Amino acid sequence: MKEIDMCACSFCGKPQKAAKKLIASPNGDSFICDDCVRICADIIKEESMKVKVFKDLIIPSPKEIKNSLDHYVIGQEQAKKVLSVAVFNHYKRINYNYHNKIDGKKNKDEQNKNVLELEKSNVLMIGPTGSGKTLLVKTLARVLDVPFAIADATTLTEAGYVGEDVENVLLKLIQNADYDIEKAQRGIIYIDEIDKLARKGENRSLTRDVGGEGVQQALLKIIESTVASVPPQGGRKHPQQEMLQIDTTNILFICGGAFVGLEDVVNKRLSTASLGFNANIKNSSEKKKINFNTDVQPDDLIKFGLIPEFVGRLPIVTGLDDLDQKALQRILVEPRNSLIKQYKQMFKIDGFDLEFEDDAIAFISQQAIDLKTGARGIRTIMENKMLELMFDLPDPKVYGKIIVTRDFFANGGEPILIKKEDEVQAV
Ligand code: ADP
Repeated sequence: MKEIDMCACSFCGKPQKAAKKLIASPNGDSFICDDCVRICADIIKEESMKVKVFKDLIIPSPKEIKNSLDHYVIGQEQAKKVLSVAVFNHYKRINYNYHNKIDGKKNKDEQNKNVLELEKSNVLMIGPTGSGKTLLVKTLARVLDVPFAIADATTLTEAGYVGEDVENVLLKLIQNADYDIEKAQRGIIYIDEIDKLARKGENRSLTRDVGGEGVQQALLKIIESTVASVPPQGGRKHPQQEMLQIDTTNILFICGGAFVGLEDVVNKRLSTASLGFNANIKNSSEKKKINFNTDVQPDDLIKFGLIPEFVGRLPIVTGLDDLDQKALQRILVEPRNSLIKQYKQMFKIDGFDLEFEDDAIAFISQQAIDLKTGARGIRTIMENKMLELMFDLPDPKVYGKIIVTRDFFANGGEPILIKKEDEVQAV
């Protein structure tokens, strides 16, 4: 055995005198100091925690996921079903692939032999503005307790152009996961307005297509599996900057857009097909109402202007319906955090019971239909009017209840104020 005083930690080089404790290996050839033992223990602890988190990824069943979505998203039944199954399969797939890797390590002969790697299926949502696309994805991420990031495709550019680099989307996800890369790698990214990246036909100018196809190409890289380098502070990459590495293999990408004009593309294909079969020519010129859940084929999306590779990466397509007045009415009242519930709560804090007459709710929803911005219109209408009410609050010592009427919204009338003593009498 070596003279211990002459020895140093084989890991950090610290001499025995400087260490609290220096432990010799059984054969006495190498040593480890107490500091290095502690660091090693931390590393092992961290690794085992990671494995635990990964192994214990609890996936609610598609039905449970859909039930949770129902609390927040009104209507859009098919989209909710499709997304519930898609995310369920996505996380099942992550668990499956993970377990197979673990098993492979346990049994080297079997490693990668009979294991079928399951590929991820990203999702494309087609639906008009304000129909609940973003809400659906946000709610999904919350239900599943996974990090979530949202990006607007129109602000993204190819690297080197003015605008936001595609990698910044990944940075947002990492930030929303509190810089826990492992967690971020199982997150969900929603890319909105994907339809705005469509190629604009054959006869566009020959200058480089900064906004469209180039960004599709850039996005394609992260949507497919890649290990991306992300600048921790966002912005441009600098050569000397230390980068965060993130593997996008298990990130679920959900893209969404209104796809105005896609209906015509599908209709054209359908009518051409029916002409080919000598079908009823008179009907072929009629525009069919397209069901985006069943009628859209990859070719239609390519004709619309998405590049084939991109379409190939979005195998699940689902449609959201235009919200009618009934649906908007329900949206005002039913979701767990509906606007009306939120206003009621705000007034409660000030000591008022707030009520909305049914007629008022019907009026707001009709106005929202006229705005043609889906459920977004509801918020605009409500905020404008409720602001007036909140600016001019009655005395909470005197009044206990405020009833909002149709007249208040439609004609600028006064809400009904009920005095506290009258409320008591009414009881
Ligand atoms: P999109 O992404 O389709 O343009 P959003 O999801 O951003 O629409 O919807 C805007 C707002 O409208 C949401 O925050 C939500 O309050 C409301 N909303 C839209 N659709 C629904 C819906 N189907 N159910 C409940 N609320 C909805």
